[in-house]
Amino acid sequence: MPAQEIEYRPFHTDRHTAFRCQLQAFIAREIAPYVDAWESERVFPASLRRKAAEVGVLGAGFPEEWGGIGGDIFDKLIVKEDLARFGAGGVRLGLTTHCIALPPIIAVGSDALRQRVLPPVFRGDAIAALAITEPDGGSDVANLTTTAERSGDSFVLNGEKTFISSGCSADFYTVAVRTGAAGVDGISLLLVEKGTSGFTQERQDLMGWRSWDNATLRFRDCRVPAENLIGAEGKGFRLLMQNFNEERLGNAAIMLGAAKACWEDARQYAGERVVFGRPLAANQTIRHKLVEMRSLIQAVQASLDVAALRFQQGETPIAEIAMTKNLAARTYEFCAAEAVQIHGARGLVTGERVERLFRESKILSIGGGATEVLNDLAARQLGL
Ligand SMILES: Cc1cc2nc3c(=O)[nH]c(=O)nc-3n(C[C@H](O)[C@H](O)[C@H](O)COP(=O)(O)OP(=O)(O)OC[C@H]3O[C@@H](n4cnc5c(N)ncnc54)[C@H](O)[C@@H]3O)c2cc1C
Repeated sequence: MPAQEIEYRPFHTDRHTAFRCQLQAFIAREIAPYVDAWESERVFPASLRRKAAEVGVLGAGFPEEWGGIGGDIFDKLIVKEDLARFGAGGVRLGLTTHCIALPPIIAVGSDALRQRVLPPVFRGDAIAALAITEPDGGSDVANLTTTAERSGDSFVLNGEKTFISSGCSADFYTVAVRTGAAGVDGISLLLVEKGTSGFTQERQDLMGWRSWDNATLRFRDCRVPAENLIGAEGKGFRLLMQNFNEERLGNAAIMLGAAKACWEDARQYAGERVVFGRPLAANQTIRHKLVEMRSLIQAVQASLDVAALRFQQGETPIAEIAMTKNLAARTYEFCAAEAVQIHGARGLVTGERVERLFRESKILSIGGGATEVLNDLAARQLGL
């Protein structure tokens, strides 16, 4: 590996590397040539999902028993990092929301639920989403207000969720609801299926991730069979907290991949663009920008790989994961801003990769747990 190569992944095995090569070939063939058109038209090609399933993009890191292709957390992170680096945010999102929706079902769902949901999602025939956030409370998950009251052999849902990824497109929704009293012990998880009476979706357009959908969900006397309960009643909050750890590792991987794309484009442009009779990169100021970008990227990569290894080994390094996600968010925002700056006005042109990367760079310092809230979480974990 050349000394300047950005990749040094000591915890990736030969199997991970082989999977990554296969994945990158798939992205280069099936995604990269079309991604700008999909983003500007705000479309996601229906045929892509099954093709992605065939090369293991959907099932990577998930149990073979339920239709996944096996592997571990590193496989899941490879998918997220490389889709973000070589694809686009919207396409990546369209292929990965099940990664945050399915873990509770895999961990504690009944076999009947697993059988109904998991194989079709991993085959690319169905889409799964996770619905926690509400209009009156995103960060404050413990105080969510969507109710699910027991009525015979059903739960009846009332309330609203918002900013839900795959909110319009999903077939299966893992929904956080209040089945009991105020506080964390009153929270449960329920599977809600598209088409259930009293359940509607409304698309929201955000400034990034344009080729996939985000939506507000509404539940009005929506009746869901009691057997759709995921795990035990009142145990939902703990499941969500466990889920957040894996989600935040994934968020960090996405931002690492995106920051690398910023660095690669900035470096190439700085070498090609001639200003005042010499390449931009001949200026020390520009070289320093590139080195600062690269330094932060290397720090995120090392932090992510260590946190992922600990997670893989059965630890729950909550503070490290929160800090890694926050470092990745700062790094991506910094790299995107510098990449556009190095491109000058060209960095603002629609269709330039750095323009899209910059537009998308704010999303994950909010989504998946906002920076301030994760700093608070880390502070508590560190006993500060
Ligand atoms: C693109 C995108 C996709 C998303 N997908 C999903 C999804 O699939 N499912 C889902 O359930 N949710 C999803 N979300 C929602 C996301 O998880 C929430 O936006 C996030 O949890 C923050 O909640 P909020 O936006 O309501 O901000 P708020 O909770 O209103 O917070 C607003 C700001 O105040 C800060 N803040 C809050 N509390 C404190 C405090 N105590 N001290 C200091 N600052 C504080 C926050 O950090 C934030 O910056 C998505 C969001 C985005 C942007």
